[in-house]
Amino acid sequence: MCELCDPKRETEWIDNLPMGFDFNVFRCRTHHEFMIVAKHHGLWEPDERELVEKLRDFLFPGKEIRWEQQSVHDHPHVHIVGT
Ligand SMILES: [Zn+2]
Ligand SMILES: [Zn+2]
Repeated sequence: MCELCDPKRETEWIDNLPMGFDFNVFRCRTHHEFMIVAKHHGLWEPDERELVEKLRDFLFPGKEIRWEQQSVHDHPHVHIVGT
């Protein structure tokens, strides 16, 4: 069972994302940083990476995106460094 497909609301969430951004944004239980999480498995779709960067600019301006997936490898997600 993939915990990113069925995230428990055990940590801080950011809801009410701007229109057109269909992600889950919440604090990682393991690394304690915010994550932007796709709602599907597989790879990032080409336009999604751009959306992730835009959402970062909106929610966490100036913060770095860590694209490397450390724990879950088949569910696209990023951590926002220093959040
Ligand atoms: Zn998943
Ligand atoms: Zn994490």
